[in-house]
Amino acid sequence: MNTPFALRGGALHAEDVPLAAIAEAVGTPVYVYSRAALEANAAAFRAGLAALDNPLVAFAVKANPNLAVLKVLQQQGYGADVVSGGELLRALAAGMAPADIVFSGVGKTREELELGLAKGIGQFNIESREEGRELAALAAARGVSAPAVLRINPDVDAGTHDKISTGKAENKFGIPLALAPAFYDELAALPGLAMRGVALHIGSQLADLAPLEQAFAKLGRLLAALRAAGHAISHADLGGGLGIPYQPGEKLPAPADYGAMVARVTAGWDVRLTFEPGRVIVGNAGVLLTRVVRVKQGSAGRPFVVVDAAMNDLARPALYGAYHDFAAVRPSGERIEANIVGPICETGDTFAMGRECDAVQSGDLAVFGNAGAYGATMASTYNSRALVPEVLVDGSRFAVVADRIAPETIMAAERVPDWL
Ligand SMILES: *Cc1c(COP(=O)(O)O)cnc(C)c1O
Repeated sequence: MNTPFALRGGALHAEDVPLAAIAEAVGTPVYVYSRAALEANAAAFRAGLAALDNPLVAFAVKANPNLAVLKVLQQQGYGADVVSGGELLRALAAGMAPADIVFSGVGKTREELELGLAKGIGQFNIESREEGRELAALAAARGVSAPAVLRINPDVDAGTHDKISTGKAENKFGIPLALAPAFYDELAALPGLAMRGVALHIGSQLADLAPLEQAFAKLGRLLAALRAAGHAISHADLGGGLGIPYQPGEKLPAPADYGAMVARVTAGWDVRLTFEPGRVIVGNAGVLLTRVVRVKQGSAGRPFVVVDAAMNDLARPALYGAYHDFAAVRPSGERIEANIVGPICETGDTFAMGRECDAVQSGDLAVFGNAGAYGATMASTYNSRALVPEVLVDGSRFAVVADRIAPETIMAAERVPDWL
């Protein structure tokens, strides 16, 4: 597919819709997603796994939990990887089959475990012996056996940003590999659990397949050891984590490369594999559309481009120093070197320093690219700003798929007690 966000007649479009038309109708800032891009990414990831026998692809809902986005993926045959009761309810609301939902997370509460049992989800990814015991007791009290796998921590360095690495020994996720056989023995003997395999997820925005391959190989050895100990292993969950290019010229492994590696490493495992991709499905399918408030002269000779989007709308640059492309919706052809910042009263509200980008002026529209993953879902109302809305484009039509929530509406949920 050609990029869904392209210049036509000098103006940036989302599919066939001019972004200026969306800004006019909905205001800014606003996230804009392309249905065609979501579908193409979903199909490409699946095609990458074509050599495998009937894998379950469970979209990592936390990357983009918008109901319309989930619906598109449900129509593509995707299930869901959820990490909270709220995400579980979203996946069900989008029409995903309970059997195609896996529940990850290191801190599932009793209420969340109960919800998963009540809804009959397909798999619990147990992250500790303690969680396994609790889930077993709750399931037994209901007279059921919860389908479950043990998430291990393979202690590999995913080579990604520290805050999105999840598979090193010091990270909170999963069970140390050395303890896994004993824990598995114990949990498999509990009547409330139907232990059926193993899982891992080592981190996000992985630019290299080597750490994944290393982790999968460790999982394969564990799987063989568990079988040798008499366990029936029918499932293995390989998590998500495949990165996307954010910077110009950046080259990352494609889903086909990933799928080929998986097929090679898992040959002979004889299990149903589950995958939990998030970013690679939604990342490049969305932009954050913003308007330049003003361009302010800076002391070092570089102007500050102050836009109406901020760290509360797109947190990744402030959280991880992440790079998002910045481009004018109607580029003049002139380029500048600028600092791109939001209006929030934090120095961290900076999208880029010393970035070479399209020249823009007060009132111009611009986009932050590759904002479909971990964008709107991390938004807050910090500085009493509105909660950012979301739009889905489909060909020449578009719909608001999440409203802008005004500060007045948020204030209306607050109370001043009568004793003040
Ligand atoms: C976040 C997460 C994912 C998705 O990661 P991506 O990098 O977006 O693919 C998958 N599985 C688990 C358990 C996660 O926490």
